[in-house]
This record gives sequence, C-alpha cells and structure tokens, in this order.
Amino acid sequence: MIPSELEEILAAIEKPIHFASGHDFANLKTVKGLEPYLAHWLDKATALALSPRREDLLQRLRVQVQGFEGLDLDGKKARVVEVQKIIQDLKCGDGVSLPCQPWPTQAEFHQSRKELQTSIQFIKGVGPRLSEVLKKKNILTVEDALYFLPRLYQDRRQIKTISQLAVGKIETVMGTVLKADMTFYGRRRTFELTVGDETGTLIAKWFNFNPRFMKGRFKKGMRLILFGEVKFYQFQKEIHHPELEILEEESESPDGNAAPPPGKEESLHFGRVVPVYSETEGLYQRQRLIRRIMKNAVDLFAGKEFSGIPEEVCGRQSLIPLSEAFRRAHYPDADEDLSLLNEGKSSAHRRLIFDEFFFLELGLALRRSGTLMEKGIPFPISHRHTRRLREILPFSLTPAQERVLAEIESDMRRPHPMNRLLQGDVGSGKTIVALLSGLMAIEGGYQVAIMAPTEILAEQHYLNIRPLVEKLGFQAALLTSSLKKSERDSFLLRIRKGEIHVVIGTHALIQEGVEFQHLGLAIIDEQHKFGVLQRATLKKKGLNPDVLVMTATPIPRTLAMTLYGDLEVSVIDQLPPGRGSITTRVFNEKERFRVYRILREEIAKGKQAYIVYPLVEESERLDLKDATQMAKNLQRDIFPEFKIGLIHGRLKSEEKEAIMADFKARRIHILVSTIVIEVGIDVPNASVMVIEHAERFGLSQLHQLRGRVGRGKDPSQCLLIAQFPKSEEAERRLRVMEQTTDGFKIAEEDLAIRGPGELMGTQQSGLPDFRVANFARDIPLLNEARKEAFGIISSDPILSQPEHYFLKETLKERWKGRLELATIG
Ligand code: ADP
Ligand code: MG
Repeated sequence: MIPSELEEILAAIEKPIHFASGHDFANLKTVKGLEPYLAHWLDKATALALSPRREDLLQRLRVQVQGFEGLDLDGKKARVVEVQKIIQDLKCGDGVSLPCQPWPTQAEFHQSRKELQTSIQFIKGVGPRLSEVLKKKNILTVEDALYFLPRLYQDRRQIKTISQLAVGKIETVMGTVLKADMTFYGRRRTFELTVGDETGTLIAKWFNFNPRFMKGRFKKGMRLILFGEVKFYQFQKEIHHPELEILEEESESPDGNAAPPPGKEESLHFGRVVPVYSETEGLYQRQRLIRRIMKNAVDLFAGKEFSGIPEEVCGRQSLIPLSEAFRRAHYPDADEDLSLLNEGKSSAHRRLIFDEFFFLELGLALRRSGTLMEKGIPFPISHRHTRRLREILPFSLTPAQERVLAEIESDMRRPHPMNRLLQGDVGSGKTIVALLSGLMAIEGGYQVAIMAPTEILAEQHYLNIRPLVEKLGFQAALLTSSLKKSERDSFLLRIRKGEIHVVIGTHALIQEGVEFQHLGLAIIDEQHKFGVLQRATLKKKGLNPDVLVMTATPIPRTLAMTLYGDLEVSVIDQLPPGRGSITTRVFNEKERFRVYRILREEIAKGKQAYIVYPLVEESERLDLKDATQMAKNLQRDIFPEFKIGLIHGRLKSEEKEAIMADFKARRIHILVSTIVIEVGIDVPNASVMVIEHAERFGLSQLHQLRGRVGRGKDPSQCLLIAQFPKSEEAERRLRVMEQTTDGFKIAEEDLAIRGPGELMGTQQSGLPDFRVANFARDIPLLNEARKEAFGIISSDPILSQPEHYFLKETLKERWKGRLELATIG
C-alpha cells in the first residue's frame, strides 16, 4: 500500500510530467519552472517516514531533477522518462509478494507491442515445418506463444523411485522400458508397458489406444518419465494412461537446431515444476522441444508484456505484473503450489485471467458510458393506449410482468436511449410486455419494430399482436424475405410514411431500403440468436431509439450483467398462473412403443402433440428427410386415425402459416417438425412434446423446446428419445432435464457442462476472445474485474487522463475495432 501523503506528492509531481511528455514531448518546450516545482514537492517528501526502498527511489528522483533547467531538449526528455519510471516504482507496494514492473514510456510500450507481434519463426528452435504445426494451433506470433499456456504442470522437484511411489497419489517416476506389448483380457485389450528401476517394476496401462502407434513408440531400454495416479492391482503398482516423456527422443531437433548443452537442458526438464503443453499432430511427444521453444519465447519476450492496469488496482486485487505472470505460468517458481497451478488458480493464472476480463469489462463500461451520454427520446407516457389494451386482454399481468414493465417505462421516459435486456423463461409472457412497451412509444407518435430470428416466430408474433393492435386503431405489418416484391414495396412505402405503427419481421427488417418515419422503440426477440452488430443495425434505423432485447435463455444473473455489461437487465421470474406441470422422461429406442402409447392416450383426451427432430448442420437435407419420412410413417403405420402435420424451415411462409393455423385450430393432432419450432410457438392445447435424438441437443435447447408444452392448465409431458450409446455428457444433460423445469438451474448446469460460448452465442457477440479465462470457473474474478473497470470509466469516461494512456491503447488492440471507439479517439 502507498501512504496517502506520498500519493498526494506523487500526484502533484506527475501532473506536469505527464503534460510535458504528452504528444510525444511536444509540450516539453513550453513547460517552465519544472525544477523548482519538483524540488519543492521532493522536499515535502523528505518529511515522510518511508521504507528504505522508497527513500532510495526518492533520492534517485532528486538526482534526476537537479540541474534539469540547464539541459537541452533531448537531455530533458531523457530525464522526464526516468522520472516517470521512478514514480511508477514509488507507487508500487513494498510487499515482497508483489514484485513490481516499472512502467514503460510510451515509446517503449509501442516498441514492445511491435516486438510481441514478431513471427514465431524467429524463435530459436522453430523452423518452417514447426511453424506450420504451430499455425494450426493459431500460434503465429511470439505473443500467441506466450498465451499458449501449459495444459498441465508436473512436479519433478523430486522424482521418485518405483519403491517410493505411494498408492493413490499422483506421482512422477523415472524408469527404463523392460517390455511393451498388447494384452488381452477376454475381448478387451490393453496396452501394457513394464517399466523398471533398481527398486522394482511398474506397469503403465492404456485401455484406449492406437495399436500401431503404440507399438512403434517404445523400445526396450528406453528411458521414460511417467506421471499419473498410482494404483495397486494384483500386487503390482500401475499407472493408467500416464502422461509420459521419452528421454532419449529429440536429442536432435528436426528443425536443424542442435540441442543445447546437456547441463542447461536438464534443468529445463528436471528438478522443478515442469510445464506440459497441449500437443497437436506433428508435435506429439515432442514436449522437450516445445518446452525449449517456450523457454526461449518467455525469456526473450515475456518482459515486454504490459497492459497498463493501474497500480492501485493491482494492489487491491493482489495482481503480480503481467510479464511476471507469463513467466511464472510457463516456468513456475520452486515454491509454487502445484494444485493451484493445475486448477488455473495460481497467482500467474489469476493475473492473466484478470487481465482478460478487465479489458472485456473496460470495453463494455465504455460502451455503456457512451450510451449514457447519447441523447435519446424522452417518451411522454400517459398510458392512454396501454390502459385500453389491458381492458381487452383476457388476463391481468403477473407481478413480475408489472415490475419489468415499470422498469422499461422509467427507461423510456429518460432522455437517453434505453438499452435493456428482458430475460424471462419460456412462457413467462414477454410478448405482452413488449407490446405494452410498444404502445408507450406509439403514444408519442413513434413506430415500433419487433425483430425475431425465424419466420415462424415473426409470424407467430404477428398473428398474436396484429388483432390487438388493430382493435386499438393502429396498423401492424409483417416483413419477411418471402414477401413478393410488390407487397414489400407497398409495405416499405407505408412504413416510411409512418402509416404502419408496429413492424414485425425477421432479418429483413434490418436490410437496406427499410426506412421508418420515426422509429422510437426497437425490440429484438431471442437476443442470443442475434449479434451485437445486428442490434446496432436495427438501432440505426431510427435516431437513437430505445432498444429492448428479449431472451428466454436464462443466463445466470451475474453472468448476464457482466457479459452484456452495456445492458440493464430485467427478469420476469414468475410464470402466469394456471399452468399445468410438465413431467419429463427419457426413453431409449426400444421403448418407443411406450412413447406412442402416451401420445395416443393424450390425443384421445383431445390434446395435441409435437414431435421434433434435430437439425445437424452438416446434413440439413438428411434430417429433413428424416422428419418427412417420420411424418409419413407415423401417418400410415402408427396413427392412421389421427392427422399428422409436418413443418420445417424450407416451407414457404404461407404454407407454414397454414399449418400453424391448422394446428392451432386442432385440425392437426401431431405436428412433426425440425428444430424450427424451438422458439416462440404458443399452442396451449398441446400437451406432449416428443424429442427425437434428444442426446444431440444442448440443455437450453431442450429446455426451450419443452417450453412449447405446459402452456395450458392440464399437466403436460416431455418425452425424450435418446439413441445409445450416449456420451457421459449427454447422459448428464438428459438427467438434468428429468430433474428440473427451472430455467435458471438448467442454465447453470449448461454453463458448467459447456461453457458460455454456445449458451449465449459469444462467437458472434462481438466480444474479445479469451485465451486463458474460463467463464464457468472464473466468475468471481470476472466480477472483480468488472468492478474495477467500471470504477475507472466512471472517473474517466473516455480514458483521457494521461495515466490511462496504456489502458486505452491495450483496449483498442484487444477489441480490434469491435468497440465503437470514436469517443476515445
Ligand atoms: P414467452 O415469454 O415465452 O415469449 P409468451 O409471451 O409467448 O411467452 O406468453 C406465453 C403465453 O402466456 C401466451 O399465450 C400469453 O398470452 C400468455 N400470458 C402472458 N401473460 C399472461 C398472464 N399474465 N396471465 C395469463 N397468461 C399470460
Ligand atoms: Mg416469446
């Protein structure tokens, strides 16, 4: 910690120094009287009781200041640079645990950034062939290499003999190959390697392996290092699927570099915690080579890493310097805790993860502060129209709906654009909230756009919304890409003239040629299907309209807040009353007849059902055939007495509309579909949802599908048909579905199983990529990073202060144009 008196003095010294160094020292000429000013403050510092280290630094500072006025411009420049460095050192804590990195000058910083982009080829040990291999791992520059963190750390501080190995522990052992062969236990085969040393023998076993590869790999007499959990079986110590390293291998590097002298080489691989890197084709079993290359990269380049996170933040969060973090992540200190390293929780990992999150949050904070400064529409709301709509609705809003509507209303009244995420589980009634919000905008003479990800969903909204809107005397239109040109043109004209008040559509809404007279509110349904860019495009159809995005993918709240850091979040956490329960059960192929029996019973009671087929990307046609075939078979062989319908994404929209209308009117009993019904379809009489190939779906997808039933008051059923063999993960997913219908619990499970990428579509969200951070594991750190980043932006909204120069530069580089940085230059 830095004493507050010293902090004040340093701040006073820094001000003119920052000014003088600004614009590449252009200001230096105009600065007068720097020497007496600085001397004055340094005198003040003399009175403070400081640590010897700081006393020493102050003395160095005095030396730099003395005789400053007499120097020429270059001389002054050099002194200013020195002074900046010493000030940074002074700001660093005195604690031993937090080594400090002196801050670079602007010129040094940019030089380092350039050097870090050096091609990996220039690292010693990397020839053209190896750089091809690394390219496949996306390692192109030395900085990429630094971010290529070890997959695992092995403790080789003490290599045990075989007799010393403790059963049940994870150990490292060295030995010689005595025998290597396949063994059969009944029909099961294993690959067994007998390894010995002067104290005994150990067997390494593989149950899954490539026989040809394994056979060619080991020779009698070869020396190995093995690592893994020691087991005991039939009086024999064993390690199953060990990590291993062949010691004789790679004595000659294939890229033409002679191996380094043995003494130095050995210290890289032994007597320490040793990094193990993820291997790839062409790198397989060349750990020693990779280690050598990484060592070179770290030695030469880690010191150049610097991202500009302020020292106060580093102090508060106990962060080691970035360069030090890279060093320790690749070459941990002797006293490092191995389990922390392997869990990605060491001080080095913490620093790297924090760094990634911090710049994510900084960008989000900046975006948000930009929005807050924008001028928006302060809607005058008297509830003229919403009151009338409430009168004609057959139900009243749930308290949760009322609450979020009030949040939306207060946003809409403010003179800044609304940017709100409305989150509500499937069936929680988001549509009506959207419509009521829309009426508040219409009241002020504005138009409303509602964008949905699929035609079916847009149509569904249109069918629900249009009658209500028309009863109130307004016009609604449906804009999709399957409109005829003449229809489209006439719609576009009426939209431009402001004759249509509510425009509902798909991506067609954000195409060129769509112009509104006065777009006041843009509503985006199923936000996770759209990227930030699409959101922005829709927004540009008006003059800073309010934006409401809706999603049924229930993201845990903390995560939503951080991921959509520039959005406010409202949650509908309550379903409308009178919904029947949903029971979920998993069946296998052999139990299919039971599923059909349930279907028959339900339909006999006057209910309806969905049967859904997955759509696997590569074989859209095939799946379509599946669904079509299935519908035919069901109609002909299984349920000749019922009417089976088929719906899929390739139908024309009139056809889809007709089928949906038939289903709603109960002229169709069973609706077979591909994944198109995933979102938004609302037929309360449907009480059975059958999902084929359930093992292929993700949890949130299953949950969304299931949400199509349980909308009436009677109990519903969701029947999952899974093919065997399922993966363990699929098994776990399906079990979660049986256990709960709580969307938030499901989302958390999904997050734990798959990470957030797929869950929220971060691939297309326009956020920076993460190389170290892991959302499921590192949420607490994410929250800390968010707090710090938002704190900085609230005190310096466009990062204009000189001490934030490096932050701004790093931010620009990490976000690479994905952030609209016009405001920060
Ligand atoms: P989602 O949030 O999944 O988009 P919808 O808006 O489609 O949900 O609403 C699902 C169903 O619930 C619709 O039939 C809608 O009319 C009905 N609904 C919405 N709000 C209420 C309410 N407060 N009381 C009763 N039914 C409601
Ligand atoms: Mg909906």
